[in-house]
Amino acid sequence: MKNISILGATGSVGTQALEVIGSNPDLYKVLALTAQSNTDLLIEQALKFNPVLVVITDESKYAKVKAALSGTGIKVLAGEEALCEAAALDEVHLVLTALVGSVGLRPTIEAINAGKDIALANKETLVVAGDLITRLAKEKGVKIVPVDSEHSAIFQCLVGENNHTVEKIYLTASGGPFRGKDHSFLMGVTKAEALKHPNWVMGAKITIDSASLMNKGLEVIEAKWLFGLEADQIDVIVHPQSIVHSLVQFNDGSMKAQMGLPDMKLPIHYALAYPDRISSNFKRFNFIDYPELNFYQADSKTFRNLDLAYTALRKGGNMPCIINAANEVVVGAFLQDRIGFLQMSDVIEACMDNIGFIESPSLNNYLETDQYTRILADQLVTK
Ligand code: NDP
Ligand code: MG
Repeated sequence: MKNISILGATGSVGTQALEVIGSNPDLYKVLALTAQSNTDLLIEQALKFNPVLVVITDESKYAKVKAALSGTGIKVLAGEEALCEAAALDEVHLVLTALVGSVGLRPTIEAINAGKDIALANKETLVVAGDLITRLAKEKGVKIVPVDSEHSAIFQCLVGENNHTVEKIYLTASGGPFRGKDHSFLMGVTKAEALKHPNWVMGAKITIDSASLMNKGLEVIEAKWLFGLEADQIDVIVHPQSIVHSLVQFNDGSMKAQMGLPDMKLPIHYALAYPDRISSNFKRFNFIDYPELNFYQADSKTFRNLDLAYTALRKGGNMPCIINAANEVVVGAFLQDRIGFLQMSDVIEACMDNIGFIESPSLNNYLETDQYTRILADQLVTK
């Protein structure tokens, strides 16, 4: 029996993880669930899975959750600090980090310090402080198993291989709803159009990131830290059908790909079960439904975020932290109709040019960089 803590239980990844867990009650037990503000769903999940601890980070919602769970024996806590408690809870074996944004950084560090293995969906944490997180995980003997479908694919391709035989990897990108569109088209796109992803149903932030190719940029940085690669070893290829989830090319020229229908439950299921592979009744791929699989070069001239992410990766230090914080602000602003689609990259680039560069940041440097960048990005959006 694996005991699991789910940070971000009410989100797209969190709810799908609970579906997987609910279908395998002999394998998994949920010990902690957290949400930001969706009290109704959090309460429903708590009553169904009966965890030891429930955390609601929006403190104004504490009383409602506490009242609904009174008499159940479930402990209820509120506030961001409580995420760390959920992450480091005694008897938890695995923490699924399914929070969105750099808010995941501190609880992930707490979980690793407490020796918990990590099933990592919250890519922003690795983007912000990948060196620190991977160093700490190594020191504590903690496994980080990716949930992101592309990274799960690479991870699966590498089982039984030596990492030093990897020549390069190809991360596949669907291209999002605006694949093939030009600059003038993108000038006028609305959030409703950007929120319509062709292949995946996901949370709002990652859906906008997919439309702007920032998601792939963040994934390139995520891949560097997960697999110990250099920027030149990580390539992006557009694959509209999202069937080939990513590929590894080895030093003998051989390539391995991992494939499957685009369903996040698959990589979630794999990350929870790792190192085992457990049977599932998920819908199977049928070749007849996909007579063609296509691959194209990514258009990083129109979708500038991808190049900005490579620049941040090559520069290193706190630059990926800057790009992530600026991106979180502009995506929030775009979702509030405060900024246009193309202006998001302009603000991100201005933050990269103007926030102080730190070559070897400490945790405090990262937290400050995150904070300063958010302030500058917000000012630029307001302007
Ligand atoms: P969602 O927005 O659907 O869910 C986010 C979860 O985190 C919710 O439980 C939400 O609570 C909680 N949350 C949001 N903000 C905060 C905060 N400031 N403090 C504490 N909790 C917070 O996101 P997704 O599930 O789509 O994505 C989660 C992570 O997984 C992201 O990093 C994303 O990039 C990554 N990912 C997602 C994929 C997907 O298919 N969705 C695919 C690959 C990676 P509440 O519901 O109360 O707001
Ligand atoms: Mg992905």
